[in-house]
Amino acid sequence: MEFIDIKSMTLGEIESDFKSSGIEPYRAKQVYKWIVEGAESFDAMTNISKSMRASLREEYFIPTIAIERKSISKDGTIKYLYKMFDGNLIESVLMKYKHGYSMCISTQVGCKMGCSFCVTGKSGFTRNLNASEMLLQIEKAQKDNNIRISNIVLMGMGEPLDNYENVIRFLELVSDKNGLGIGMRHISLSTCGIVDKIYDLADKKLQLTLSVSLHAPNDKLRNSMMKINKRWNIKDLISACKYYILKTNRRISFEYTMVEKVNDTKECALELAELLKGMLCHVNLIPLNESDESGMIKSNINRVYAFKNILEKKGINATIRRTLGEDIEAACGLLKSRAQKETEDLP
Ligand code: SAH
Ligand code: SF4
Repeated sequence: MEFIDIKSMTLGEIESDFKSSGIEPYRAKQVYKWIVEGAESFDAMTNISKSMRASLREEYFIPTIAIERKSISKDGTIKYLYKMFDGNLIESVLMKYKHGYSMCISTQVGCKMGCSFCVTGKSGFTRNLNASEMLLQIEKAQKDNNIRISNIVLMGMGEPLDNYENVIRFLELVSDKNGLGIGMRHISLSTCGIVDKIYDLADKKLQLTLSVSLHAPNDKLRNSMMKINKRWNIKDLISACKYYILKTNRRISFEYTMVEKVNDTKECALELAELLKGMLCHVNLIPLNESDESGMIKSNINRVYAFKNILEKKGINATIRRTLGEDIEAACGLLKSRAQKETEDLP
């Protein structure tokens, strides 16, 4: 029999599970409280009888993750390499801003999407993360630094909408006032464009910020950078984004990673402005973080500013993303399992 991951369950689910086993509902509240407060074993639950703890152990388990390695950047950004209960490794990044701490978490071990510029994509896909494993990335970093994290971005390893059910469960748990209590307005989810799931997410009308990794203004260019564009093209993606805006009334953030002389030309800027005309949106320009794996070159900063100016002249709001943690390979698209890198580095 497989043990059930109780840390990935909502209070309602624990209550109904307990009910069907003949356990009083108030016990579910007690157990849930211990779990959200970070209990790592049933033995820590001192207001639960020993015999009940023993029967819980026969059915459920509480997953944990361990800090395998920690790298600290000169700008204060901290990258964690976490080891999960099955030995798999993932990375998360803790950033300090003026308004508080923000954590970039992973949603999968690896990624299936294979975008040409992204290191995570190159390592292939191993498995989805459970909701508990997303929560643990935040809880561990909070404990390690004795801080409260106020913002979360789902922009680490993996494609969140390719792990839709677990991500939705995570969002419910992390925003629960009895748990970490991080409100939806403090959460951003980044997707490469899994169109059917953007529609599903829109119907949920959550108040989170949706970031859409666009990176190109036409299908020819986007096909060459992102395999997902062959499944859902730009027209499909923009229609889904318009539906999302209609349902949620939230502004979409389009991510645009800039590769020198590939997608950073004046023509691309004009085409992008035309594509996004009239939408409730904002463009976030990200100079490519270079890796040996992709061999692509980042846009010269003058080209990034010129691109931004064209967008703004055409009435499209644009910002340039400040890159944090470059010296420790914590920047966007550079996350991968360290163990894997070391294996590859062997002579
Ligand atoms: N899979 C999701 C979220 C994780 S990637 C997605 O693709 O949106 C987070 C962001 O980093 C995405 O916008 C992605 O396009 C961007 N990114 C990936 N590789 C990058 C690189 N080498 N330089 C800059 N940004 C990169
Ligand atoms: Fe996956 Fe996002 Fe990297 Fe593309 S950019 S390979 S979707 S993690």
